[in-house]
Amino acid sequence: MRNEPCKFTTRFAPSPTGLLHLGHAYSALLAHRAAQDANGRFLLRIEDIDQTRCKPEFENAIYEDLSWLGLNWETPVRRQSEHFHDYMSALDILRKKNLVYRCFKTRKEIVDEIARAPHLTAQGPEGPAYFGAPLPADEERSLLDEGAPYAWRLSISAAKDFLGDAYEDLCFIEETPDGERAIKADPSLFGDVVIARKDSGTSYHLASVHDDALQGVTHVIRGEDLYHAAHLHRLLQAIFDYPAPTYRHHRLLTDASGRRLAKRDKAATLKALRESGAEARDVIARLGFSDA
Ligand code: GLU
Repeated sequence: MRNEPCKFTTRFAPSPTGLLHLGHAYSALLAHRAAQDANGRFLLRIEDIDQTRCKPEFENAIYEDLSWLGLNWETPVRRQSEHFHDYMSALDILRKKNLVYRCFKTRKEIVDEIARAPHLTAQGPEGPAYFGAPLPADEERSLLDEGAPYAWRLSISAAKDFLGDAYEDLCFIEETPDGERAIKADPSLFGDVVIARKDSGTSYHLASVHDDALQGVTHVIRGEDLYHAAHLHRLLQAIFDYPAPTYRHHRLLTDASGRRLAKRDKAATLKALRESGAEARDVIARLGFSDA
């Protein structure tokens, strides 16, 4: 860990799975301006654990787009794909504490199971929240011997037992332009979330929480689509004894018909704007920022 954890530090953490659009520019500019205003640090982190969806050309476009917007960031940039070993060590900590279990089920098997027992399933922010259990040791052994692939799920009930009363007291700070609020965390929203995927051996949640702590991030500034993730991230921070950053979840930009901007909307990408001759200063003004 760095030894200056209290200096205002924020980050922009895109995944290079497509071209950045105006919504990403808004997020990056907000974080960059916040760091400037606080005389703090602005980091860029490449969240590229999904090795099939992430592409070098999208990563290069991130650097080009952000430079075009006039942003500067500390180097070296942390690229998560270079740190799988760190995430494996974090997973090992969860394993040693018996907070995770292997899940051999396919997505379809989980969906079918939930359909059979909807009364046992809560609705989560990303669909039904699945709560499972480790397999009996002999069944698990034979699946392992067969080489069956598996994910690791975080057991919410084990996490509750592990933290005891502290589980109920978990909360995170959300800062808005009107002030800050302490939000009671409900980490069970996602059920026994997959914390290490079959393919990558980690997950967005594990890698992101790990890196925010490692990089001394004091303020997580990101879109409100990730608001619910903060509930789970707060639990992971408590388990790992990481400091809890302050959160600022911002509104998401929409297109003329009110739909959220997505990486697949080619016209709103920063690359398309750049190539059409748009000026960065006009884009920045259009997003509601004054000149730096
Ligand atoms: N990598 C995530 C994304 O591109 C952002 C993660 C975060 O800011 O916590 O949506």
